Amino acid sequence: MIECTCGTCSKLFNSIEMSDTPICYACALQSMTEGVRPPEESDINSALLISGEMSEEEWRQLQREFERIDHSRAQQEWEEENEYWNERRYGYYPDER
Ligand SMILES: [Zn+2]
Repeated sequence: MIECTCGTCSKLFNSIEMSDTPICYACALQSMTEGVRPPEESDINSALLISGEMSEEEWRQLQREFERIDHSRAQQEWEEENEYWNERRYGYYPDER
């Protein structure tokens, strides 16, 4: 890690690489959201990457983690939907079909 001084707020922070225009995580996040909306997961990821406070490898791992969570969520929604349609299709009295 390299100690950098943020060009925006003059805070010292640790970055994985030296930059000509160092910016800390907080200032990077601020510029992502322009200070007017709450940060989203993608903003936080980008800010970590821009500031260099997170390496690309760590970033990729984080992405995989999010994808995994998204996938399991989609799977669950699909199952719930399926259950709903089965109920509609076969009704409550399957024997009388
Ligand atoms: Zn800063």
